[in-house]
Order: sequence, then C-alpha cells, then structure tokens
Amino acid sequence: KASSIKTVNPFNNETVKEFDVMSNEQVDQIIGRADQAFKSWKKTSFEKRAQVLHKVASILRTKKEELGKLATLEMGKLLKESIYEVELCANIFDYYADNGAKFLADHPLDTAHGKAFLAYEPIGVLLSVQPWNFPFYQITRSAAPNIMAGNTMVLKHASNVPQCAQIMEDIFLEAGAPKGVYTNLFIPGRDVERLVADPRIAAVSLTGSEPAGASIASAAGSKVKKSTLELGGSDPFIIMEDADLDDAAKTTVYGRMWNAGQVCVSPKRVILPESKKAEFLDKVKAIFGTLKVGDPLEADTDVAPLSSEKAAEDVAAQVAKAAEQGANVVIGGHRIDRAGAFLEPTLITDITPKMDAYFEEIFGPVYMLHTYKNVDEAIEIANATEFGLGGSVFGKDTDKAVEIARQIDTGMVYINHVTGIAPELPFGGTKNSGYGREQSPAGIYEFVNAKLIRVT
Ligand code: NDP
Repeated sequence: KASSIKTVNPFNNETVKEFDVMSNEQVDQIIGRADQAFKSWKKTSFEKRAQVLHKVASILRTKKEELGKLATLEMGKLLKESIYEVELCANIFDYYADNGAKFLADHPLDTAHGKAFLAYEPIGVLLSVQPWNFPFYQITRSAAPNIMAGNTMVLKHASNVPQCAQIMEDIFLEAGAPKGVYTNLFIPGRDVERLVADPRIAAVSLTGSEPAGASIASAAGSKVKKSTLELGGSDPFIIMEDADLDDAAKTTVYGRMWNAGQVCVSPKRVILPESKKAEFLDKVKAIFGTLKVGDPLEADTDVAPLSSEKAAEDVAAQVAKAAEQGANVVIGGHRIDRAGAFLEPTLITDITPKMDAYFEEIFGPVYMLHTYKNVDEAIEIANATEFGLGGSVFGKDTDKAVEIARQIDTGMVYINHVTGIAPELPFGGTKNSGYGREQSPAGIYEFVNAKLIRVT
C-alpha cells in the first residue's frame, strides 16, 4: 500500500523504498519503553553516558561514506556535504560526551543564609521532531545533549528521510545505548500533535516550518510542557563599504548554493552599498557562470537537486511570483529540463517591499540582492522580516561590523562569514524563527530541571 514515509531519490524522482506507518499500538509501546528506559538511564553515571556518545561518534566516523550516500539518496544533497555533515555530528557527540559532566555539575549559588546550589536533573522522554535538510545533524543536535543529560528520546523524522532516521537508531543500539534510550517513530507529521499530549512525553523540540512549530507549541502549551522551536530564517548578509567584493561575491554565492539553498541559515538576502551594484553584479554573475548543477554523487557538482519535486515546484513558483510582481530575475528561475527535482541557480535583484519575496523565506538556490544608501537603511532591510535566525556583516572594519551586528534582530550574527555551525557555539533564533538554543553549553540546559537545593 502507498505510504507517506518513503525514500524518493530527488536526483531522478524514483521511489526507492517505502515504510509502513506505525500503528497506534506500536507507537504506544515505543513511548512506554522510552519512559521505562528513562527510569534507569537517568541514574547512570556521566561516564557511562559519555561512553555511549563517544561510541556513536566513532561509528559515525567509520561509516561516514555509507551514511553520506544515504543522506544524498534520500534528500539529494552533494555527497561531499553529506560526509561533512556526518563528521560534524561526530564532533557534536564528542563535545557533549567530553563536557556534559562539567556543564551539569552542581552549581553553587551565593546566598545570604546557609548554602544553596542548583542540581540539574533530566526530565523524561523528549519528543524530537526534525526536518530533512540535514538528516543526521538535525537529529544530533537534539539527541547529543539530551541523552548526555539523562533524558531519553523518541524521534519523529521527516517522512522523506526514513532510512537516515532508522540507521541512527541502529547506531545508538550498536553503541551500547539501552533499548528505549533513543527510538525512531514512523508516523506522519499530522499525528504528532496527539503525541505531545501523551503524559509520558515530558517536552518537545522541533526544527521545521512555522505551521508545524505553531501546532507543536500550542499542543505543548496546552499541556504545560516545555518546547523549543527552530523554524525558518531569512538571514541578511550586509556587505560594508570597505569589503573586498571578490571575497564577498564568493562567500555569498557558495553560501547560498550550499545544500541547494535549503539551509535555515543561508545568506538569503545579500545587502550591498548601491554604489557597488554594477561591479558586484559582474562578479556574482561570473561565479554563477561556473556553477555546475547535476549529480550530487559527483565530486565536481556545485548545485544539487532540491529535496523533492514539490520543493522544486514551490520554489519555482515563489520566483515566478517575484517576477510577476516586478522583481528582476537576472539569472535562472526555471526548472531544468531533465529528470529530478532541479531548479536553475537563480539571481534576483530589484526586490521591493511591495513583493512577497521581500519578506518571505525562499528555501532553494535563489540569491536575492538588495542595495542600500546608508547603514541605517541596510539595518532596516536586514530587519524587515518576521524571521530572526542568523545574519552576517562582511567588511574590513570589524569594530564597525560588530556595531552593526548589535542592531540586527537575530539570534546569531557572524562577522566575515555566513552564519555557521560549531558544537561549542549556540544555535537558535528570535522572532518567528522560534525560541531556545541548541549546541554549546546552552543546548544542554533546555530540557533539564535546574533544581534549587538549599541547606540551612
Ligand atoms: P515541515 O515543518 O512540514 O517538516 C518538519 C518536520 O515537522 C517533519 O518531521 C514533519 O513531518 C513534521 N511536521 C509537519 N507538519 C507537522 C505538524 N502539523 N505538527 C507536527 N509536526 C509536523 O517542513 P517542510 O519539510 O514542509 O518544509 C517547509 C518549510 O519549512 C521550508 O520551506 C522551510 O521554510 C522550513 N524548514 C526549515 C528548516 C530549518 O532548518 N529551520 C528545515 C526544513 C524546513 P512530515 O515530514 O511527516 O510532514
């Protein structure tokens, strides 16, 4: 029978493998086991948990080619990017294994009377709902800190990456995690809300779209459960007057085309001094001319297919609408006449607040160029979005860049770099990009009870 949970290779749109949706009884059993596992996992030592996480990291490194090919098969990204992603995951698991005990050690508090400290205690089964764009990394950033903290996890991954979802569960078991500590659920997105209400689920963490976030957060709120949300972004990339334009062109084009543009923190809106427009556009166009779109398994491909036929259609429609509303589509904008979920790398200029593209997130290989007359206008454009995830300021005067960074309403600003990812740095946003932080010390405190113990 047809299932919504399946592997469809976006390179040729062929269905590779289908999975049965789990029955209510199966889901109930899995949550029951996760709840049981929590009762003993929370009592294990940090050393024991670190051992499991280090082992997960080492299996990831050993299998990085195999895992990388699986991510590429299921959602189309370039193989070199898939392998990089698996290595990043291994580093995140090692980071929490190495630092978790230190982060969660009792924290003494100054108090006028007696002695007081915070004890960080795990809270139970975490429901983690994740998207397909980084099929391993999205799992890792919620799994690594939480399993280190003593929580257990059930994962509801996106329906188009079931094999990546399943193999992570296998890896946890191979690494010695007791059954129930980390389990995969094959259920459609619409069934998640119901799960949030299950009394055995303590909290929920989602990365994905705004509608999914709103539905999960309200379901959690109505049961007084904590949630974290990492939703979309429309990162501004402000190029300063003193910037090296060759560098800026390279950084933004490759930054935008990475993962076929399906990155929440991609430089989606490049904001350039108006006086530089002609010179800069020449440089950007020259780089576009070198981009090779094609087979994600080939080492010299620059731009991969999108994650699905629907994703490619949706992005093409957003570009068509921008054109209709008067934007200048300088390069690309169309589906490519070949099998697969391909879209031409696209360059758009002359985008005004009368157009949807001015405000919307475009989740595909679409480079949007804005221009500004003075820094205040650059900041205004940067903040003219409901999103607030990341952003960049690019230029030689880094003190001035930091001043600009302080005025950008996002959770992260990188100077002279696209918004990045590192185990030790926090990741997360503000405004409609959601709330909560992943990675860094902050990521391990989201789903623990910081319990005060006071002795007099
Ligand atoms: P979705 O939000 O639909 O999917 C993300 C995850 O949420 C999937 O596991 C999905 O399951 C699940 N889900 C879907 N609907 C619900 C719901 N009502 N309640 C609970 N869970 C739900 O994202 P899409 O894949 O449709 O992508 C659409 C847009 O989301 C993108 O264009 C982009 O703007 C944003 N996005 C942002 C990402 C980020 O990194 N911040 C990553 C991916 C997308 P299922 O697959 O079964 O529907």
